[in-house]
Amino acid sequence: MSSKNLLIVLSGPSGVGKGTVVKQLLSTGNYALSVSCTTRKMREGEVEGKSYFFISKEKFLKDIENGGFLEYSEHFGNYYGTPKKFVEEQLLSRDVVLEIEVDGALQAKRSHPEAVLIMLLPPDEATLKERLKGRGTETEEEIEKRLKRAEYELSRKDEYDYCVVNDDLDECVKKLENLIKKLKLI
Ligand code: ADP
Ligand code: 5GP
Repeated sequence: MSSKNLLIVLSGPSGVGKGTVVKQLLSTGNYALSVSCTTRKMREGEVEGKSYFFISKEKFLKDIENGGFLEYSEHFGNYYGTPKKFVEEQLLSRDVVLEIEVDGALQAKRSHPEAVLIMLLPPDEATLKERLKGRGTETEEEIEKRLKRAEYELSRKDEYDYCVVNDDLDECVKKLENLIKKLKLI
């Protein structure tokens, strides 16, 4: 039976649990996570090269010019992008996970049609709000912005290959793993 390495693009509204789910997926040791570049400021607890590569806007624009990004987008006033070289190298030996927002994900699908786009959905709107507030990392104003953005992200879910609801965390991770296993055999 043949098996191939997948470019797995995971999106979903802020607070749906992307970071939490990805952490659990990665703990299996089966996937490489692409670390993005961003021009936003580092938050407390974040680690350079692990959370993101924190770079200046000038450097980001230069990297765009040099074709260094597999995809990139600008939102919340900052640039975010996936370094192309890392992803292409890792794909030679294993599956790669990108955790990125909708515009970048759809861009990645255009340049890499074989990419698998998965959107994580909240069980309902109230739960999404609870999780976002409960995380306690954003101000009220930022939370409102993210909830507005969530509406937009969810409105594009039909353009994704798969949607998976993150209700019970373990079940959600299991569903993702089973889906990936199946796709690797197609
Ligand atoms: P995102 O990366 O999508 O913005 P996070 O992974 O930071 O979201 O999760 C937002 C909050 O929701 C965190 O406090 C996290 O612990 C919690 N959370 C994530 N998944 C679940 C789940 N399945 N059930 C309950 N709480 C969850
Ligand atoms: P945050 O500022 O909360 O870390 O991230 C904000 C948003 O940027 C999240 O939706 C996250 O998925 C997205 N993001 C992170 N890295 C990238 C990237 O490389 N490209 C794109 N397009 N979005 C990204």
